[in-house]
Parts: sequence; C-alpha cells; structure tokens
Amino acid sequence: MTSEVRLPTNALVILVGPSGSGKTTWAEEWFRSDQVVSSDRVRELVGAGEHDQRAGTDAFDVLDLVVERRMRRGLLTVVDTLGLDRVRRRGWIAAAGRHGRPCHAVVFDVGERECRRRNRGRDRPVPAKVLTGQLGRVAQARAELVEDGVDQLHELGPATVVAPVFAFSPEWARRQQETPMTLRFGLHIPTFDGPGDSSDMAGQLSTLAAQAEEVGFTSLWVMDHMVQIPQFGRAWDPILESYTTLGYLAASTTAIRLGTMVTGITYRNLGHLGKIVATLDVLSGGRAMCGVGAAWYEREHRAYGWGFPPLRERYELLEDALQFLPLLWGPGSPPFSGRRFSATEAVCYPRPLQEHVPILVGGSGERRTLRLAARYADACNLFGEAEVVRHKVEVLHKHCREADRDPTEVTVTQLSTIVCAPDRDALSDRVEALRGTETAEGWMARTNAGTVEDHIGRFRAMTEAGVQEAIVSLRDLGHAGAVERFAPVIDAFRPQ
Ligand code: GDP
Ligand code: MG
Repeated sequence: MTSEVRLPTNALVILVGPSGSGKTTWAEEWFRSDQVVSSDRVRELVGAGEHDQRAGTDAFDVLDLVVERRMRRGLLTVVDTLGLDRVRRRGWIAAAGRHGRPCHAVVFDVGERECRRRNRGRDRPVPAKVLTGQLGRVAQARAELVEDGVDQLHELGPATVVAPVFAFSPEWARRQQETPMTLRFGLHIPTFDGPGDSSDMAGQLSTLAAQAEEVGFTSLWVMDHMVQIPQFGRAWDPILESYTTLGYLAASTTAIRLGTMVTGITYRNLGHLGKIVATLDVLSGGRAMCGVGAAWYEREHRAYGWGFPPLRERYELLEDALQFLPLLWGPGSPPFSGRRFSATEAVCYPRPLQEHVPILVGGSGERRTLRLAARYADACNLFGEAEVVRHKVEVLHKHCREADRDPTEVTVTQLSTIVCAPDRDALSDRVEALRGTETAEGWMARTNAGTVEDHIGRFRAMTEAGVQEAIVSLRDLGHAGAVERFAPVIDAFRPQ
C-alpha cells in the first residue's frame, strides 16, 4: 500500500500497530523528532530508561498532558505508542476535538509473519505471546477508531504535511480535471516591500502589473490604507496611496481591471471619491472597479486627522455612498440627500466610460454588510474557506430575495493570502526561505502555502461554493517569479 498519508499541519496523528510493525521507524522517516511524542521517550524521562515498564503509568500521564498542550497550540503531533488502548486513544481524540484540531490515525498492518520476523530481529523482542495479543487487537482498533470519531484513517504510506485548507485538495483537483469549472482571478497587492528602495517601486509595480496581465489575472487590487496594517506588516513598512497608484497602473496595463480592496468610506468626501473613480475609469479606458467598506482602522484615522464615527454611522455613510455614487456617475445633476451625506447636485464630467462602474462591497458581516451588498452592489468580497463561503452566499442570496434583487447580479469574490509552488520540493524550499523563525507548519498554515495541485483543489471547492472571482494576495509577491508560479492555477480554470 503506497497511498499518501496526507496530514494537516495542526493534526493529531495516532499511530496504531503491534510492536515491530514499524511505527517508530516511520515516524523518524517523515517527521522531526520534536513532532513525535513517544511513550518510549517519555518512559526514559520519568523512569529508568525507555524499557522501564514500571514507569508506564506515569509516562502515559505525562504523555497525555503533552498531547493536550500541543493540541492547544495547534502543533502537529505524532503519538508513537502501540495505540491499542482505547481509553488512552479516546483521551487524545477528545483533546484534539476540544481545540478544533483534525484527528488522524495511521494503522500499521504489515502482516503477522513480517511483524514477528521484525520483532525477533530486535535487541529486546517482546515475548511471542504478548505479540500475538497485540496482533489480535489491530482489527478491533480499526473499528473503534472510526466509532470514536477519528477524522481519517490511513493505511501505511509516505506522509505529506499540508496547510489545513488543502486537506481535501486532491479529490477536488481531480474533479476540476474531470469536469472543469471556470473561475476568474484577481491579484491583490497589499505590500510594497520588493528589493531596493522607494526609487525602485514604480518600475517594480509596472513590471508586476504587466506580469499579472500576461498570466491571465483579470483584476488588480490595492488596499486603501495610509499606514500599513498589522495583517500585512509594520506601521513603518512602505505603502502607497491607493488611487494615485491605480492611476499609474492604468498607464502601465491595457486590459486588467483596477480597484481598491477596499476604500474606507470615511477617508474621502463621497463626491471626491466618486470624482476620483470616474477619472480612473476614463483614463484607464473603462477599467475601474469601486470597492467600498465601512472602514475599521482607527489608528490610521487618528494619525491622519479623520473622524472615526461609530460603526452605525459608518454603515449609514456606506449606504449613502452606494446610493449616491451611481447618481454622480449617471446623467444630469440630481440633488442627493442621504443620512450622513448630502449634495445639491450630483455632477461629474466627464462621466465614467463604463455605463455602470461596478461597485464592490467588502466584508462578510451577515446582517449589515451582505444586506447592503445585496441591495446596492455589483459584487461582494468574502473571507473564509469553502464551507464558510457557501454559508455567506446563502445569506447574500436571502438578502437578494428580500430586496427583490436577482442574485446573479451580485458577483461573489473571495480574498485570501497564499503561497504557490510547482511541487512539494519547491514548496519546501520556498517555506524554508521565507518562514524566518516560525515553524514550517505554522508558516504554511498561516500563508496557505501549497502546490499548484493543492491550490487547484482549494479553488475548485471555492468555485462550487459560489465564488466567481478569487482574489489572491501572494505572500511572496516581493520575490521573483511569484506571479508566474501561480499561472498554472489560473490556466486550470480558464474557459475551455
Ligand atoms: P515499532 O515497534 O512499531 O515502533 O517498530 P520499529 O519502527 O521500532 O521497527 C521494528 C523493526 O522493524 C526495526 O528493526 C526496524 O528496523 C524494522 N523495520 C521498520 N520498518 C521497516 C520496514 O518498512 N521494512 C523493513 N524491512 N523493516 C522495517
Ligand atoms: Mg516503537
């Protein structure tokens, strides 16, 4: 049996098999020693050596505690014991469950003859009768594991550790290959920390935008922040003003759509915002998208001298914007009177080239944000994995029905950070080069680092959940080749 043992970076992995079935050897081959919690090693710690059976009970008490604490931290943990004691196993499964970690088991079923042969060849073989007892308990353990709620039961094979979001990618990737679905991709540029200093930024940005267009991204997004946000860096990391940047990118590209992900509604007077977006649309040949959201980064408001009204008021202003902007961009100069913003004439010439500049509302809030998106917007932007997205899309569509809006009029986009490499070895190289002092597993999980196949699977699941455009923030964007490495994923979702 050579099927892959695919394990999420935060999994509990229980090894189950008689003495001599190869558990310790397998664990050593595929994992670092700090990831393996073995009863032999704990016996060595609390007793007089790894074979001190009298220390067994104490050793298991310590082992249970270590498993529990590691699950709490979300650390990949391989439990190397016989795994034949149901009560102990249930304790570990419960610990994983309490902390929301996936629980996997690997069954070492190498056949009685082979197991006995290997046992006899060891320095201290277990007595033949003891081994007979262990061999007899494997089949039962298998059934118990399923009953006790283990998420996945694996046969012996090579181990692959993947970010949790890719746990089921191979199945989904196969579906994408067999019955392809289409998905558009957008590129999110949240950081400006490429090599060199500020004088290199303009050139790097235009190169990046040209590459994005070349490999088939259909939209390009920058954040609308004045100070780098904690999610992407430190307050003194470089960040460019959004619309000036988009104006520059309009000149260095020809087809890609341009927008902010997303403009905080508090940053500009709404008339001024509309004027800027209209100008971007005219100068880009009709490629502007208008992303808007309720704004959240208070520190930045204080730093730049903007008021930071309560959330309720910000939502009212957002709703005003959603009503006012199409009026401003439309014909004539009607007056507008909203709850937080009024204008004697909504006047803007030249009007945008697009008859209707698409408005995207950012955020996943079910009561307010998705309701506003359903009533007024052309697109929404969601966070989260396929399961979460599926639920949010249902909520969006419910709001659409309530507002008498055709749900197909609201495009669903989803934003996530990722790192992409062609295969496992290349991925491992990227991870080692970029993880800094973080563990490889922690970094992979946090950045959704995966292979092309991993990503194809994840995006297929996302497509089936209702996403029409996936917007990706490439965590290694500042490094050469990041955009090109993602190209095969885009290709897998192109219209046939
Ligand atoms: P454990 O008791 O299940 O932890 O088994 P070990 O990993 O300690 O292995 C028991 C013996 O079997 C050792 O002498 C290993 O060298 C040997 N062994 C382990 N895995 C394999 C294997 O895949 N093939 C062969 N031929 N021997 C193995
Ligand atoms: Mg062992």
